[in-house]
Amino acid sequence: MITQPIDVHRRAFLWGHDINTRKVHSVNWDTIEKPKIQGGLGVHNLQHTNLALLAKKAWAVIASGKSLWVDIVKAKYLRKHDFLTVCPNPTDSRVWKDILKARSVLHKGLGWKIGDDTSINLSTDSWIPGNEGVIAPISLTNSISPLFVSNLIDSTTRKWRSNIIHHCWPEDIAKQIISIPLSLSANPDERIWTLSVNGKYTVKSGYHALHSTNTTPLFDWRIIWTLKCPPRVKVFMWKLSRDALKSSSNLFRFGLNINPDCIFCNNHPDTAQHLFHECPFTQTVWQTSPLPQIVSVPFTETPQIWITKIQQLLRNTHGTIPFAIELFAILCWSI
Ligand SMILES: [Zn+2]
Repeated sequence: MITQPIDVHRRAFLWGHDINTRKVHSVNWDTIEKPKIQGGLGVHNLQHTNLALLAKKAWAVIASGKSLWVDIVKAKYLRKHDFLTVCPNPTDSRVWKDILKARSVLHKGLGWKIGDDTSINLSTDSWIPGNEGVIAPISLTNSISPLFVSNLIDSTTRKWRSNIIHHCWPEDIAKQIISIPLSLSANPDERIWTLSVNGKYTVKSGYHALHSTNTTPLFDWRIIWTLKCPPRVKVFMWKLSRDALKSSSNLFRFGLNINPDCIFCNNHPDTAQHLFHECPFTQTVWQTSPLPQIVSVPFTETPQIWITKIQQLLRNTHGTIPFAIELFAILCWSI
């Protein structure tokens, strides 16, 4: 895979060393590839970028637009098969096999724009936005057993038949179905990409679909990235928040034969807690700075909790000290 040697160079660049040199990487690469708001540096995952780009070709095959190369692959590979279900053949071209792999991206946001005479099959088609795979109806009685999406639509009013939908799907799925807008004009069914505003696939939205996560980070990373500071200060604060500074105690923790004691007082390992709060030197820095109240903020847990408490404290004094949080970050960086 060509992305692996590229990643070796990217990692070496980030940590400031030659590719032939081994150095401590205090944050793992998976974390660095997370979006900034999720605690990473937003460095693109090259394999996912490649898949998102290939998915653009996959989208061209199933979207209704016309293209000569799409006509050729349809004639060669899809005469008897559907694009979303066809299995790759060992003799297929490598490009075609790669495009088929990118279907995994499309599955994350593929939907239907329901036409006026829809033929979408409820038992075989994946058509409910936000759900991967087929969610077939659960018929509770023999009297109601819809086969096609058209059975769920009142042909006169062009509205969803909500009684049947609620009867055949769980509440949350039923709500998703009823929220799908129905067109009053006579249009055929059309494939849409549900993760963009105009219904068309974009590489950016495809990449985001591969990286999206519903988990809310415990730390508000916007505190770091919205600082009005030079990038080097922001990256420094990101490392401090991750307790990933190359302090002597951290390097000692990674197995380097090094004295872990603080260079200022030589009396305690230079952990983040000591270096930015407990050390007599640092206490003097804070007390003589325009932000002496920082001394009173306890640093007994993680750097993220300490920074959050300081941000809350400084927000309350906002207006009396301009750029207080920036001053705090630059003083930390200077220490
Ligand atoms: Zn010290």
